[in-house]
Amino acid sequence: MHGAQLDAIEREADTRRHLLSPAEEMAKLGEESRPLLAYGEGIYVVDTRGRRLIDGPAGMWCTQVGYARQEIADAIAAQAMKLSYNSPWYTTNSPAAELAARIAEMTPGDLNRIFFTTGGSTAVDSALRFTEFYNNVLGRPDKKRIIVRKDGYHGSTNLTAACSGRAGNWPNFDIEQDRIVFISSPNMRLADGKSETEFLDHLVAEFQQTLEELGADTVAAFLAEPLLASGGVIIPPKGYHARIKALCEQHDIVYISDEVVTAFGRCGEWFASEKMFGVVPDIITFAKGVTSGYVPLGGLAISEKLLARVSGENAKGSYFTNGYTYTGHPVSCAAALANIAIMEKSNLLDHVRAMSEHFAAGLRSLADLPLVADVRSNGLVGCVECLADKTHVVADDFDRKIGARIDAICFDLGLIVRPIGHMCVLSPPLIITREEIDRMISILRQGILQAADELARGDISQI
Ligand code: PLP
Repeated sequence: MHGAQLDAIEREADTRRHLLSPAEEMAKLGEESRPLLAYGEGIYVVDTRGRRLIDGPAGMWCTQVGYARQEIADAIAAQAMKLSYNSPWYTTNSPAAELAARIAEMTPGDLNRIFFTTGGSTAVDSALRFTEFYNNVLGRPDKKRIIVRKDGYHGSTNLTAACSGRAGNWPNFDIEQDRIVFISSPNMRLADGKSETEFLDHLVAEFQQTLEELGADTVAAFLAEPLLASGGVIIPPKGYHARIKALCEQHDIVYISDEVVTAFGRCGEWFASEKMFGVVPDIITFAKGVTSGYVPLGGLAISEKLLARVSGENAKGSYFTNGYTYTGHPVSCAAALANIAIMEKSNLLDHVRAMSEHFAAGLRSLADLPLVADVRSNGLVGCVECLADKTHVVADDFDRKIGARIDAICFDLGLIVRPIGHMCVLSPPLIITREEIDRMISILRQGILQAADELARGDISQI
């Protein structure tokens, strides 16, 4: 048995007794423990029982270059010995400066100044706090509303949770409502018979009407993922982002593209906003893939045009006092530089582009299976939406139960799916090969077919 496995077995009792995990079902606190992973290699993770699993979601959309990459481990160790920490409030460090310069080269337009955070939520939170600061310095204290979409996900701080349109996350939390305004999810399945172009016109008209109702001079920002990842890989109609951006420009509204999932190769580009979705935002947020999940790091890239309006002679004595103890952490930034070096050396973006059609074709091959209501993908992120009754548009608890059953069957067959309710989302490590994609799709096919059989036999009950 692998040494790490033995150690992990001992930790199962501690997990049940001492850990509080995200999305914990409180009625079962201490009764159930999640699969305890012992180690990872390449696209696989191995649990304490020795089960080797394809990491279908790449952790949480983040393990781009896969597990156990010596180069990243070495970079982390070397930086920890060289300079393990510095206070970003009055000093800086070389990896942070170098990483900022590298990211500025990758971002579109004039998004050339980078602020580092501790993860995705703090990146989005900082972007929103920047727009707050921006409008206050500009003398527009009433320009504060944030427009977001249903089905969007932006994080788990107070403000980013309130901006997340997945209402299932809200019960028993106090969600700020005054400043945050939701518009429709750009999900073609909700188009109600409209063509893609008609649906696009409808969504743009809704945005325009929202601005009229609120008064554009009260709206600070539009915050959007290029594709709505946690919402189920919802890909908006072609041209959506550019049309909304044009309205934002017209009304001096900051357009924030939340690329926490889509950046660093997931869609085949360093950043997806411009090259995949045709928009140059004012701010882009990133996290996850920047370090392939080896250590926490997030950040935002801000346009020079925005900064020029509140800096230099326009600063009016202001300080941008938003920040964290671990802003620009030297070890995290060194890990990110090593991660980027691996991605460049192995031409990983080209690999993702080469694999994306094969991945999409594999997902499409599941479209005719029972339960499968829709499949969609972009780059190496995709979703197979499963519903007990394919004619339904909205899922219910029973559909979510079926999703959980597909997940359990796939887990036993060697694939982590981590369905989001009834949606089987796959976003594997970007190093995945053609054969491994085939294996992943084949397991998912078996999982769906077996769950459909169980449903037909009445083995999955409504209760
Ligand atoms: N934004 C998006 C689009 C995300 O998908 C996530 C997390 O999944 C976040 C923000 C929050 O990132 P984190 O969990 O690193 O705080």
